[in-house]
Amino acid sequence: ALAVPAAAYMLYDQEAHAAEMERTFIAIKPDGVQRGLIAEIISRFERKGYKLMAIKLVVPTKEFAQKHYHDLKERPFFDGLCDFLSSGPVLAMVWEGEGVIKYGRKLIGATDPQKSEPGTIRGDLAVVVGRNIIHGSDGPETAKDEIALWFEPSELVSYTSNAEKWIYG
Ligand code: ADP
Repeated sequence: ALAVPAAAYMLYDQEAHAAEMERTFIAIKPDGVQRGLIAEIISRFERKGYKLMAIKLVVPTKEFAQKHYHDLKERPFFDGLCDFLSSGPVLAMVWEGEGVIKYGRKLIGATDPQKSEPGTIRGDLAVVVGRNIIHGSDGPETAKDEIALWFEPSELVSYTSNAEKWIYG
């Protein structure tokens, strides 16, 4: 039998990357779910190399939507926004990867799809700000709070992906 030595590139050093690993909360809003864009959106995060850690389809109550968007409660569109978020199923997810909070926002594009670059999710798939199909945490603190709001700790699944050594080297 051939003895195959373990090449250095095959050994993914999880510890070397642990400090850089981040988690972010991503949600496909009711418009994205209704328009059949779930697979399209998930595939962009998946192909990039981020790791899915939690996922569920939920219809939030209006009170829950108000909690999620509490930072915006003084804005004129707050009530309509919360009605909208609670109007149908939302696909709630946690994605993990190096720089996923900031780069996830890049994949999503600007808040107003009219200002989102082509190639971004909102740029390619949405037209108006009130129906911009996806939410992504805007920083480490919000990511932590939003993950805790939408998921129980036991719903986050930790696992080693065999692709990681090819994604991170
Ligand atoms: P983002 O979702 O890009 O982080 P914000 O936190 O500023 O943007 O706003 C949250 C959500 O509120 C937006 O995604 C959008 O759905 C909605 N929204 C923002 N601005 C407006 C507006 N001027 N009119 C209607 N809805 C808006």
